Amino acid sequence: MALIVQKYGGSSVGTVERIQAVAERVLKTQLAGNSVVVVVSAMGKTTDGLVKLAQEISKNPSRREMDMLLATGEQVSIAVVSMALQELGQAAISMTGAQVGIVTEAEHSRARILHIETERLQRHINEGKVVVVAGFQGVSSTEELEITTLGRGGSDTSAVALAAALGADFCEIYTDVPGILTTDPRLVPQAQLMDEINCDEMLELASLGAKVLHPRAVEIAKNYGVPLVVRSSWTDAPGTWVTTPKPIGRELINLELARPVEDVEFDTDQARIALLRVPDKPGVAARLFGEIARQEVDVDLIIQSIHEGNSNDIAFTVMTPILKKAEAVAAAISPALRSHPGKSEEAEVLIEQNIAKVSIVGAGMIGRPGVAAKMFITLANAGVNIQMISTSEVKVSCVINSIDCDKAVKALRIAFELPTSSTSPLPPSSPPPHSSPSPVRGVALDMNQARLAIRHVPDRPGMAAKLFGLLAEYNVSVDMIIQSQRCHVINGIPTRDIAFTIARMDAESTQYMLQKAASEYGWGEVVLDSEIAKVSIVGAGMVGQPGVAAKMFEALAEHQINIQMIATSEIKISCVVEKDAGVKALQVIHEAFELAGVDSSYPKS
Ligand code: ADP
Ligand code: ASP
Ligand code: MG
Repeated sequence: MALIVQKYGGSSVGTVERIQAVAERVLKTQLAGNSVVVVVSAMGKTTDGLVKLAQEISKNPSRREMDMLLATGEQVSIAVVSMALQELGQAAISMTGAQVGIVTEAEHSRARILHIETERLQRHINEGKVVVVAGFQGVSSTEELEITTLGRGGSDTSAVALAAALGADFCEIYTDVPGILTTDPRLVPQAQLMDEINCDEMLELASLGAKVLHPRAVEIAKNYGVPLVVRSSWTDAPGTWVTTPKPIGRELINLELARPVEDVEFDTDQARIALLRVPDKPGVAARLFGEIARQEVDVDLIIQSIHEGNSNDIAFTVMTPILKKAEAVAAAISPALRSHPGKSEEAEVLIEQNIAKVSIVGAGMIGRPGVAAKMFITLANAGVNIQMISTSEVKVSCVINSIDCDKAVKALRIAFELPTSSTSPLPPSSPPPHSSPSPVRGVALDMNQARLAIRHVPDRPGMAAKLFGLLAEYNVSVDMIIQSQRCHVINGIPTRDIAFTIARMDAESTQYMLQKAASEYGWGEVVLDSEIAKVSIVGAGMVGQPGVAAKMFEALAEHQINIQMIATSEIKISCVVEKDAGVKALQVIHEAFELAGVDSSYPKS
């Protein structure tokens, strides 16, 4: 007999008929000899409706009252799902997050789960009842017993956390698509269903905008080794399994706060090539990386900063043994990349050989802004200047001077409480467990991002630390972080621009907060652009595969889509494009990687 947690999303409980269908499925699972804990979301678009209601009353409602309001949606669902089960003759009991004892931080609207009390649940399960739990909500660990919510889409996280706490055999996420597809089937009807995907790839996809799973649900599944499957509510098809590594036996206290960093990695065999003043127009990145790919040169990190005037800077890192080849390509192509045809100003190639990449590795790095901030603060305190930053949900990497590598690694190991013994680079990540024909597994689009740029930040150790420390204090998650390659000397101090993307809902308050900080620290203007879209490709198979980036950039160039920013990490490449080009960008990239299938007949809601 298995213990199974089944989670049903909003559309799966959107009508009376659907609630009855959910009850039938739960009953069937229970009658097959299993115990079922059900987690439900609010019915249909209830939560959106409640948000709208609040906005009609207040422009800026308090986060506490928003939690109080939004938590009611799930309370309706648990009661009616329980009734539907009882109607079928199945004993059932509904419980709110607080009644279960889903204890969270007191951080309204984005609380993380600290622990789950399982005794009451277990008692009901032992009595043969189906327990129907409200997703998305919890109760604070403080004396006031505040009702908290986990953030939009958070019922997935409630379900996986419950599965971890109860030691369930697996967790099933029932939704309105047949599983995890190569991209959002609403935007690309030919998107293909995957049988399985590894949790690192899914973590990246989820945090880059694939709404099918809440990123924190995947983070918990990874950390606790919870077997997780996404399936359709309307069929019995097998769905998509998210594969997780063997659990390392973490404690169930501070469930979502537990040690986020598992390791520190470094690589001293790297060199950096920067091209300054390349024109800001479609096709430039495609041309450069297309040529590099033809020479079979594998590029590691790529960043392209925000444009100044009408030119951009592109920087990338390669392994030292192939530096000469990469340098030759960059030098050969730079005269062709004139930003002002006819004028003498042409792209300039800068080579930096003495660099190292240090990375912290784990899960949920973007969702926990304090983690990257701690890395930057640790490096600053060790007197290490950061030249390039690459962030992703599973890794934050900094490019630094190679003479600083040893002390950086040592300081990071101490800061993240890791054993200090390991002083040699880790072997490269193991190959992906699946045999996918394409190095790219999925494509994601995030239309809810904005870009902030701070001009003229002094280039010295501690600047990233100060900036991202501030953002972490306000609990603002940052995704792409890019420091410009070009230096402006202002009053004798070299300065760079720093640009990053954040959730649009945080944009204005963050801009305001940073403007205040800018005048205090002597930074320049803080510029906000909300008219952006971020399109990303993800795949563990792109490690060590030349040409993947080039293919993505070429697909965009072919459709005259200009790339405003590029940021990569090992298993993802993200490009910022103008907002109106977002959907088209997603479609052409999906097609370029031949991810499309012929069958688009998934059951629609
Ligand atoms: P639920 O209410 O069940 O939690 P969501 O709306 O939160 O459902 O998530 C399911 C939706 O996620 C799908 O309807 C689909 O439009 C969207 N989606 C985005 N990317 C993907 C993807 N790669 N695979 C499947 N669905 C995706
Ligand atoms: N009802 C909440 C929302 O709409 C939680 C969820 O559906 O996961 O965001
Ligand atoms: Mg959801």
